[in-house]
Amino acid sequence: MPDIFLTNSLSKKKERFIPINPANVAMYTCGPTVYDYATIGNFRTYTTSDVLLRVLKFNGFNVTFIMNITDVGHLSGDNLGDADTGEDRIVKAAKREGKTAWDIAKFYTEAFYQDFEKLNLVKPKLFSKATNHIQEQINLVKKLEEKGYTYKINDGIYFDTKKYEEVTGKRYGELSNLDQIKEGKRVKPNSEKRNPRDFALWKLSRPSGTRHMEWESPWGIGFPGWHIECSAMSMKYLGESFDIHVGGEDLQSTHHPNEIAQSEAATDKPFVKYWIHGASLKVDGGRMGKSLGNAYTVNDIIKKGFDPLTLRYLYFTAHYRKQLNFTWDGLKAAQSTLDNLRQQTPSLNSKAQRTILSQEKSNKVDYYINGFREAVNDDLDIPQALSILWKMLKDSIPGKDRYNLLLAFDEVLGLDLSQTASVTKRTGLKFQISEKASNLLKEREKLRKVGKWKEADKIREKIAKIGYTVEDTSEGTRLKKIRVSNLKV
Ligand code: AMP
Ligand code: ZN
Repeated sequence: MPDIFLTNSLSKKKERFIPINPANVAMYTCGPTVYDYATIGNFRTYTTSDVLLRVLKFNGFNVTFIMNITDVGHLSGDNLGDADTGEDRIVKAAKREGKTAWDIAKFYTEAFYQDFEKLNLVKPKLFSKATNHIQEQINLVKKLEEKGYTYKINDGIYFDTKKYEEVTGKRYGELSNLDQIKEGKRVKPNSEKRNPRDFALWKLSRPSGTRHMEWESPWGIGFPGWHIECSAMSMKYLGESFDIHVGGEDLQSTHHPNEIAQSEAATDKPFVKYWIHGASLKVDGGRMGKSLGNAYTVNDIIKKGFDPLTLRYLYFTAHYRKQLNFTWDGLKAAQSTLDNLRQQTPSLNSKAQRTILSQEKSNKVDYYINGFREAVNDDLDIPQALSILWKMLKDSIPGKDRYNLLLAFDEVLGLDLSQTASVTKRTGLKFQISEKASNLLKEREKLRKVGKWKEADKIREKIAKIGYTVEDTSEGTRLKKIRVSNLKV
């Protein structure tokens, strides 16, 4: 197997990837909280996870991939602190939309699945929902309780971080700098906790019976703390120790250290070997936020006439560990680059007869495939891999071989370069062929019938200029849209 190198947030170093069980790599990615549409920021992280999954497969690994759906509402302090206080985001959305928390979760989970497909992300073996794994979460909390790592206060059962350090001899929060793990600045600290860094494992409904989502437990009616779902579900499907865990960098200072502490306290085993964190997406140079009106969704991108895979290309312009700034101009530039690539792809295929390769050409093919593999295996260096792709396209190797290389690269890139899925399928939008293009096609047909091939070819060029390719199929001639910028939306 070729070497793959990944930056592991545990060691903060680039390490050679050595799976626990080479026959089957186990990978888990923290999925969305389904209280609203996922943003293009969220999807940057899921695209990083997707590229990692594809790179592992490209190198011949079998991968079991699980992603969770956080469909239990946690408190708005989540990403800032420990999710003990603040407002429940799903409940808040339910109030806003006049629905139940269950309806909200169901609706936005479906929306997430659709966006996931639009971005050509490879589906996990399972999207594991927190609400389907309440018993597993209760069992894990019970185990921690039996081992003496928990305590009960008025509003729930908490994990005792000091106890964890004393018993295991490990430093709590090894993924991040300890001073980053603190209660949310915007959230009032819970004075009953023994240590501000302790976090909720099970929250009690107060008053009980008032929430849409609550369950019986040995400690009373309530709902699980946010972090426990990822430990319970990842260990259920991937084992107590597994290879890779992925998330955005904002999860590195609280959610993931908490997952490590509670899992390792329960099992006395190392939880995850490689922690991979993607850098965040900024918008117009600043923070992206719903309150700022710039938390764009995949549908916002489509409504402006872009193919959603343009967003994928845009993500690829920066290394996953570097911040990326989203602007509409940047997206337009990504679109014209992707259009350019797509326009070349079919012609490479159709022109080409299979040519017997000379040794020199065969060496070149090897050079490009190896160069591409080295780039993606070097901590997922997609910008470098793309520069190899563009160099390859300009090279003098036969069209058919360039086409085959492109398709091989696309196993990692997932840009649908062979265009098996129509733009309509990706965007969910129907578009009409422009009248001008249809008329030109009719004109071309007439010319071909009377053998005026040169004139007919000129018309084909005209048609291409307004954004369509002409496909001569066994069922007749048809137009295919190639420039999504002309989409009528
Ligand atoms: P959430 O739905 O807030 O739990 O986030 C789901 C995933 O998206 C997590 O892995 C976050 O780290 C990631 N994420 C959230 N905001 C951004 C952003 N602006 N850029 C990149 N990833 C993000
Ligand atoms: Zn998680």
